Amino acid sequence: MPSRIRIVQSDFENLKRELLSNSLVEQGAALFAKHCNSNTGDIFLVKEVQPIPDEDLTYKNAVGRKLKASGLIKLVQKALEEDLSLIMAHSHPGSLSSFSKTDDQNENEMMPRLLMMTDNKFPHGTFIMDSNGRVNARFWEPYSKSPKAIDWVNIVGRPMKNLPTSSNNSFQKKVNTELFDRQVKMFGLEGQKVLAKTKVTIIGAGGTGSVAGIQLAYLGVENFLLIDDDIVEHSNLNRLLGATKNDIGREKVEVLADNINCINSRAKIEKEVGKISEKNGSSKHIIDSHVIFLCSDNMLSRASANDLSLRFLIPIIDVGVGIQADEGKVITAGGSIYLSMPGEFCLQCLNRINPETIDREKMVAEEDNACYVFGERIASPAVISLNSTMVSQAVNMFIDLVTNCLGNRTDQIKCFDMIRGNMYTPRLPKNQNCRFCNKLKGIG
Ligand SMILES: [Zn+2]
Ligand SMILES: [Zn+2]
Repeated sequence: MPSRIRIVQSDFENLKRELLSNSLVEQGAALFAKHCNSNTGDIFLVKEVQPIPDEDLTYKNAVGRKLKASGLIKLVQKALEEDLSLIMAHSHPGSLSSFSKTDDQNENEMMPRLLMMTDNKFPHGTFIMDSNGRVNARFWEPYSKSPKAIDWVNIVGRPMKNLPTSSNNSFQKKVNTELFDRQVKMFGLEGQKVLAKTKVTIIGAGGTGSVAGIQLAYLGVENFLLIDDDIVEHSNLNRLLGATKNDIGREKVEVLADNINCINSRAKIEKEVGKISEKNGSSKHIIDSHVIFLCSDNMLSRASANDLSLRFLIPIIDVGVGIQADEGKVITAGGSIYLSMPGEFCLQCLNRINPETIDREKMVAEEDNACYVFGERIASPAVISLNSTMVSQAVNMFIDLVTNCLGNRTDQIKCFDMIRGNMYTPRLPKNQNCRFCNKLKGIG
């Protein structure tokens, strides 16, 4: 199963700057990472990149460097205090992107000792970068006597990047070039392959989620996790894309999964019936996603998704729609898309999460359980054309995020005013010291 390091763009850039700062002498840094097991392999979520000061080294030259015992102890203490794996990074001046014999010898000596010093509680790893920026990495499991290869370095940013390590020998994804001919012209063959490899979690399989799932399936996305707790009702059939009368009473995730499979029979779809805010098991499935589409108008779900996004370093594209109307007279109508990017900004610092609404939702949920006899709550207006407008914008953002075919130049927030018919970008102040971004980043 493939294993990977996931790191936010700014941390990766700092690491690269540190490692490539001297083309003659090996440079080094320590990565502190949370180790997680996903259904598809080991993931190391980088929480912090720490340069190693020269005074912690015995020596460094063009072919090697040695950490003093006191330097190692400092790193071990931090790893133990925060339950983190340590990934020791160094540069290879020149173009050797594989581990050298000296690396093998050093690791055979150091890694079992490092595992022992951290009570064999979590794995540790090593990482190298050559002067062309090519990377390689491997890790040692507790009590192990030899390393395992790390296959990918996922860089979370704009654009998303997936660097194969030099030891990655996974076969290339095949693309149906006849089917995707018109898209390959736009994204390039590589972009189309990236879409096939990308895993998308869709939270909410309703009015916007169904449109998102079907558009992504047509695009060639093949890996999905669908989360929704609802079943199809008669009054959903005006906007639940692909759903018919026969689907009434079925779970929304089942209906959407069937529709995605009709478009692309190769699609691998995981389904979870439940609320993201109540699902403890979600994280295990969500963790190997590359992007989350948030298609729920529930504030509690939004807050939970934001939490998971920061913990596991997965960006969110949040799609919102809203209409206020009075018997045929529309007062406000429109929608918004927020791109929440770990390492830069989240839905909290973009003011997208309203604690008062969460309190109200919790109250309504309690009332709902207590007095369901009073019947259905008043539903707000909803129309497929507005939903599709917003989802299309969100999917455009997604295409750019993973293929970079548009150059990732759009703003992180886009709003649409349905009355005037225009799309605009509000300038929201960003909270530079977001306690959510700081506290939750990469903690797993
Ligand atoms: Zn080396
Ligand atoms: Zn934030």
